[in-house]
Amino acid sequence: MTEMCIGEDWFESVDPPWTLKRLASHRHLHLIIAPHPDDDVIGAGGMMALLARSRRPVAVVYVTSGAPAGRKCSGVARIRRMEAVKALRAVQGRAAFFLPFTSRDVREKPACVQPVLARIISCVRPHALYLPCPFEQHETHRTVTCMTIDALRRCTSGPCELWGYTVWSALPSSRLVRIVDITRAAQLKRAAIRQHKSQTALKDYAGAILGLNRYAAVFSSMLPDRKEVRYAEQFLDMRMLLKNRRLSIARFAAQALVRDRGPAGVKQRP
Ligand SMILES: [Zn+2]
Repeated sequence: MTEMCIGEDWFESVDPPWTLKRLASHRHLHLIIAPHPDDDVIGAGGMMALLARSRRPVAVVYVTSGAPAGRKCSGVARIRRMEAVKALRAVQGRAAFFLPFTSRDVREKPACVQPVLARIISCVRPHALYLPCPFEQHETHRTVTCMTIDALRRCTSGPCELWGYTVWSALPSSRLVRIVDITRAAQLKRAAIRQHKSQTALKDYAGAILGLNRYAAVFSSMLPDRKEVRYAEQFLDMRMLLKNRRLSIARFAAQALVRDRGPAGVKQRP
């Protein structure tokens, strides 16, 4: 598939330039599906920076432009795209797809949005894919997750890894939750979120999510030495939805809530 099939002005590489062809030919691409142009760095900014350090390329699909409903080409969309590119640069993301949809399109015209997601995923064939977890409170996030799962189920070959990240929710303790120590990348994550000036002027997103990351580091029983870990991101292993194509997201979420009691004989720290 060529760049023309995806939309010339949708794809943007971040320094140093990566072509779509180079991205698609990389065997260890990590692709993040972000409903809005800041969800990637809020939910997974630490992981993105760590992946870049280990030379794993990260690309993002921004499903909505961030423009208000009915104003696809507004100045808001241009500002949010510029902010997203600056944020990507902070965590060394390699490229992004800026789709022109609004939140209303996502809710009311899924038949327009979902094939585009399927096309991009089929084109770049990511090794790992990240999307909002099913527990998100934001309706657009949950809808994008459903659409992406549908898109993945239509692709001939899916990613090896499928992870749910959190923005508008905290993940419950679960055997399916992976805790990632992002202490070394926390400041880069904070810097990336702060590039979204139009959004952080309204809410302290950096303070809120790093507070949650700090909470995860202190209270997670799955980290070997919590004193050394100051910030942690949580990811929900959602591969089950790819292996069992009949499994609904609601049923998967219910299964994910089953708490892990840990191996017999191992006591959790107080
Ligand atoms: Zn969002």
